[in-house]
Amino acid sequence: MTALEAAGRAIAAESARYAGMGWMRGTSGNLSVVLGRAPLRLAVTVSGRDKGELSMDDVVVVDERGEAVADQPHPERTPSAEAGLHGRIAAVSGAGAVVHVHALAPVVAAERWPGGVPLRDLEMLKGFGRAAHDDPVTVPVIANGQDMRALGDAFEAGYAADTPALIVARHGVYVWGDDLRQARHRLECLEWLLRFSVQWDTHTRSAR
Ligand SMILES: [Zn+2]
Repeated sequence: MTALEAAGRAIAAESARYAGMGWMRGTSGNLSVVLGRAPLRLAVTVSGRDKGELSMDDVVVVDERGEAVADQPHPERTPSAEAGLHGRIAAVSGAGAVVHVHALAPVVAAERWPGGVPLRDLEMLKGFGRAAHDDPVTVPVIANGQDMRALGDAFEAGYAADTPALIVARHGVYVWGDDLRQARHRLECLEWLLRFSVQWDTHTRSAR
């Protein structure tokens, strides 16, 4: 099996899990795996497919800008529109895999904390790669848009190496890691943290 086939198989399996969680509704969301770094090459999900039904063949190789490269089995395929942000995140962070889903909690949290979502003193922060106590985390929030270069610039301006996540307001969340598995573990824990924050904030406000 080639590296691209292995990446395609892993991306299809992870996408099915996220679809089952309700985090890739319709054809939303996209996953990528870094295939090489000099120059940067990523395998990313093709555009417009149901993420619960992907095969290992439903990936496209893109460059740092998210554009399909010529040297691959199916250069005519269209990568996800958001592949450019995957490329920027992988280039800046050094991540080996980037995951983007349309989970609800991150988007609601960004409405409540548009300048960045604060998290601290929660056990689940350990699953996000941070400490459970006295280690305040701020998950960056950027405005939504369709220009991946502008989104990439906004991401890079607020990037912190110890915070492997980015919320795009009124849109969804990006999380990254060394591989798809680490990224998923971080995303699962972050989604719990954001859901807790929103629900606890709602509760304390209504109790006043
Ligand atoms: Zn999206």
